[in-house]
Amino acid sequence: MINKLGELEELSRLLEPNAEVRTIVREKVIKHVDTFLEKLPHVAPFVSTDDMGIGIYDSPITDEPIDIKTALNLFEHNIENAGVNIGSGKYFAFLPGGGLYYSALGDYLAAATNRYAGSFYASSGAIHLEKLLIGWMRDFIGYPEQAEGDLTSGGSMANLSAILTAREAYNLKAQDVAKSVVYISQQSHFCIQKALHIIGFAQCIQRYIPVDSEYRMNPEALESAIKQDKQKGLQPWLVVATAGTTSTGAIDPLRQISEIAHAHQVWLHVDGAYGLPFALCETGKQLLDGIETSDSLVLDPHKALFLPLGTGAVLVREGKKLYQTFRRQADYMYEPSGEATEISPYKLSPELSRPFRGLRLWLPLKLIGVAPFRAALEEKLLLARYFYERLQQLRGFELGPPPQLSVVTFRYVPQRGNIETFNQILLTTIKKDGDIFISSTRLDGKFVLRLAILGFRVHKEQVELAINVLLDTAKRLEQEI
Ligand SMILES: *Cc1c(COP(=O)(O)O)cnc(C)c1O
Repeated sequence: MINKLGELEELSRLLEPNAEVRTIVREKVIKHVDTFLEKLPHVAPFVSTDDMGIGIYDSPITDEPIDIKTALNLFEHNIENAGVNIGSGKYFAFLPGGGLYYSALGDYLAAATNRYAGSFYASSGAIHLEKLLIGWMRDFIGYPEQAEGDLTSGGSMANLSAILTAREAYNLKAQDVAKSVVYISQQSHFCIQKALHIIGFAQCIQRYIPVDSEYRMNPEALESAIKQDKQKGLQPWLVVATAGTTSTGAIDPLRQISEIAHAHQVWLHVDGAYGLPFALCETGKQLLDGIETSDSLVLDPHKALFLPLGTGAVLVREGKKLYQTFRRQADYMYEPSGEATEISPYKLSPELSRPFRGLRLWLPLKLIGVAPFRAALEEKLLLARYFYERLQQLRGFELGPPPQLSVVTFRYVPQRGNIETFNQILLTTIKKDGDIFISSTRLDGKFVLRLAILGFRVHKEQVELAINVLLDTAKRLEQEI
């Protein structure tokens, strides 16, 4: 047995590199990242290799170790060079945050020290740090002291927590599903339907409230739907408004919706995964008027606070409702009574063990302060307006509504041929040429192009580039028809 232990120990000690090995490995990784960041402005926002990363299978998981150089080569070829560069200033698709470098260092610190951010007893400091961040969000949103929140892996999970909380707050049970009514709009994110599905409410009544010409929920239509449903003896329960829709950045009229919801005792949840961080800047604060009157909300630091993917946040105005939804006890969760001054995150979330997410938000906020975030958000709003106005002045472009946040929708109207096909080809050509990366959506059945200005590396220069690429490519394709 002693011999066996010795053998096992010798091998298992490879799990812990010594200082010298750590230095070698770490420096290679850091150098690799530096090279990546240096070349990022010069590489395409979408890169592809012929094998699209499938080469990773050629190096299966076995007992045979490889060195860090080989590992980095595999990473570079199969992952780095096969797909989109969300952090590129030329990336305008979907809703990219970018990925702050300081957050990456925060992740390194969090992972290397492996603080347990699920329970107050395990790491009270980590919990205080996350409460500090939740409190900061609560304050810039305008929620009261008693609000509670949780840092999640993203917006979908945050919406799930909020919607489950709404269900619990209304004490809805399986027998209530068929008569419970949820009000959403055609522009709501599909994660709301997923959340309803997960909480067992896929079969509840889902009313799609019409939107106005700027894709905002029509409050009058909402009110009459609620009234009709009440008359029918149904149970209006939840309104989900969106503050910054994914397609166009539309902000539903929050204050009006809130008044209607509350007059009818309906829970108002606001999905602000994309838009709510804009409340940090003056212009955004005005656009998001009324947000503080909601019952729960979601925002995604990995979108408009520019974090690398992996951080969303949920806040519930009456914090105890979040707690009542998730609190559980178990004999194996030892927490001495009376010592905890803060509620453990596992009592506010479906998760127990989880990464120490706070650090990736805290470190950049502390190292550069809030001012650069506020400025960047104000800049994105202005850049979207600038892009919109420039496109208006160019012949050939048909524009969607003026941007409410930082997304602009538009399409090119060619002199001949089918508009729809033309714009699909325009999109594919732009992606293939690789100078910029944009995406598309469908509005009122029409295929439209979509430019989202959200990455922290997007400035005026990149927006000018986008305008030139769009114009040049459209003109070139028009000639070819
Ligand atoms: C992105 C987004 C989501 C989903 O968030 P994830 O972080 O991708 O899970 C939900 N709602 C809106 C409005 C979004 O823009």
